[in-house]
Amino acid sequence: MKFELRDTDSCIANALRHIMIAEVPTIAIDLVEIEGNSSVLNDEFISHRLGLLPLTGERAMSMRFSRDCDACDGDGQCEYCSVELN
Ligand SMILES: [Zn+2]
Repeated sequence: MKFELRDTDSCIANALRHIMIAEVPTIAIDLVEIEGNSSVLNDEFISHRLGLLPLTGERAMSMRFSRDCDACDGDGQCEYCSVELN
């Protein structure tokens, strides 16, 4: 989506930005298993940074919060509330 906003305060633009970010369904990386790390960054730093990435896609629209998932009783280990990336 592209749009142009004119003749308004930056606080209005910031409010619109916050609303748009909140309304786009995203998933986040919650569990990271690192098999080997030869970088200068430690595993916890990399895991934390991965968790900050908002991931979006068509599938994110239909996913459930793991705490509300009745298919796995909130374990977060089923196809309705989790995705595994390798
Ligand atoms: Zn589930």
